[in-house]
Amino acid sequence: MEPPGARPRSPASEAAEPPGSPALPAEEHPPAAQEAKRRGPGPQGPAECGARAGAGDGREPGGRARRPRVTVDSSKAKTSLEALKISLRQLRWKEFPCGRRLPCDIYWHGVSFHDNDIFSGQVNKFPGMTEMVRKITLSRAVRTMQYLFPLEYNFYPRSWILPDESSFFEKEIRVMKDRDPSWKPTFIVKPDGGCQGDGIYLIKDPSDIRLTGGLQSRPAVVQEYICKPLLVDKLKFDIRLYVLLKSLEPLEIYIAKDGLSRFCTEPYQEPTLKNLHQVFMHLTNYSLNIHSGNFIHSDNANTGSKRTFSSILCRLSSKGVDVKKVWSDIISLVIKTIIALTPELKVYYQSDIPSGKPGPTCFQILGFDILLMKNLKPMLLEVNANPSMRIEHEKELSPGVFENVPSPVDEEVKVAVIRDTLRLVDPHKQKKKDVHSQTLEHVSDAKEELLDAGPPERLDHDVSTAPEAGLPSLCLKQVFPKYAKQFNYLRLVDRVAALFIRFLGVKGTTKLGPTGFRTFIRNCKLSNSNFSMASVDILYIDITRRWNSVGIDHKESGMCWQAFVEAFFFLAQKKYKSLPLPEQVASLIDFCEYHLAVLDEKRLVCGRGIVERRNALVTCQTDGLQLTPAAHTPLLNRMATASKLADYRNHQY
Ligand code: ADP
Repeated sequence: MEPPGARPRSPASEAAEPPGSPALPAEEHPPAAQEAKRRGPGPQGPAECGARAGAGDGREPGGRARRPRVTVDSSKAKTSLEALKISLRQLRWKEFPCGRRLPCDIYWHGVSFHDNDIFSGQVNKFPGMTEMVRKITLSRAVRTMQYLFPLEYNFYPRSWILPDESSFFEKEIRVMKDRDPSWKPTFIVKPDGGCQGDGIYLIKDPSDIRLTGGLQSRPAVVQEYICKPLLVDKLKFDIRLYVLLKSLEPLEIYIAKDGLSRFCTEPYQEPTLKNLHQVFMHLTNYSLNIHSGNFIHSDNANTGSKRTFSSILCRLSSKGVDVKKVWSDIISLVIKTIIALTPELKVYYQSDIPSGKPGPTCFQILGFDILLMKNLKPMLLEVNANPSMRIEHEKELSPGVFENVPSPVDEEVKVAVIRDTLRLVDPHKQKKKDVHSQTLEHVSDAKEELLDAGPPERLDHDVSTAPEAGLPSLCLKQVFPKYAKQFNYLRLVDRVAALFIRFLGVKGTTKLGPTGFRTFIRNCKLSNSNFSMASVDILYIDITRRWNSVGIDHKESGMCWQAFVEAFFFLAQKKYKSLPLPEQVASLIDFCEYHLAVLDEKRLVCGRGIVERRNALVTCQTDGLQLTPAAHTPLLNRMATASKLADYRNHQY
């Protein structure tokens, strides 16, 4: 649904950054010194490029040694460059705008992980995240969780995937309408991989889906349209919240205390056949509404078509709304969504950066688009892997002549998010934190009950989030592991992913071959007289073929992650008939983990035998008493295995 007069431009939108947005050449930006003057004090001179960029940090002009500054490669920052530069200046970190011959501590990428081969340091993208948050993949991941935990995952509108589920969609709607003839639903069709409202339209009936343009070539998600959104000034708006996935393993999530609210530019009316096509009434995308004559550029946080979320909360609070409840519902939505995404993300991660191989650590800022319903319930619309971090917008000076002008609302929110993300991943503090946690580990032996009291929040305050001189307190608030106790029971599918990854084997693979699947069945002792290996092969072929015919990724053959989940759920239902689904799945996971732990234990015993024989040999040859590292590792692993066995035995099997 294109707005009248829309033409391809890239305003300072907070939509997903379209892939391939041009990098801003360094010389197009105001010189750093001039910038610094505009934005406040900072010691950094003009950013240097070229071979000299490899040297120069580490010594002050007088030759005195100083604490090395954190180095950041910003050469691929693209449209987030402006906000990144301001953040780096505030932090007094060292920017390498043209890259560096030596490795940097942090690589800031505008688009995706695959921009470059990086073997150390940290990069602000996870492999696979862009694929993971595409409309279809996200819908599938949430649907898996809705299948297991329908009540907990009711914050995502009912969705169908087109064209695969077209007939299912039609049938389901027909049945529901027959059951309740007064039900007059509206649906929103969104092309997969689209952004900025591109190609989106509303329909009243499944038969209205536009087949022109070929759904086959551009699959889509069709979703129940939320007809009763909360209105402010009679306008529909949505919320863009910034979420930092700081680490996948262990899971660490932070939410920015403030976000942006993007407003429609025409008063809202519930959808009717007459107003379905009115984008300025139904779609909150900034990139669309900026073309409306009613769009108001905000010069402060409380007015205009883009405001801070905190200004909306203030307004709601003044009307007596329990904004604490709104926030806690939003936090819960964010944690649950990330829990839905992590299993497949781990599959991607391991295929790009297998454990034990050199590679960077990853973190990522995600943009969550959330709609508040009239009853204040937050609903997830989508997740953006590359939320726009632009801090300026285009202004039409005279017809057809545009200029980029600063957008104070964008700058207020986005610079804080980037700067504080950097503070949280600061490698120097990370080192301190590691030493600190090692010390804590020793203490923990004696004072276990201290750790039982909750996640190590104090550690966070002491080491990570202590306010640096002159910087405001962190705008990012930790929500996981802080609230882990309330949400850990939802992390079942993560354990299924661990099983899948164990049998994947080869680097670069995200699909399980028939031998891997057979080994999984054999090692987990899932085959028996009722379920022969021949049936296992049929199950593999059946599910794999079906998923490969609907999937987007046809490059690799084999069983994809979603197909494995389906097979796993099938096996769980077959084995534990009388239990509810989540318990069936949990029981099968326990069963598999137990048998794998037994197997590992056996292998360790055999391995130890070999090591002992080898040690005896080494001792004889060198007449020394050296312990090889190989003799240590199994001991550590054995403890993990033993505790897993104990865990299992505590369950009643
Ligand atoms: P895009 O990535 O193209 O921006 P979104 O999923 O964010 O796609 O949808 C665009 C806009 O459409 C949203 O900002 C929101 O205003 C509206 N929208 C999307 N899904 C729904 C829904 N299920 N109910 C009501 N409005 C929706």
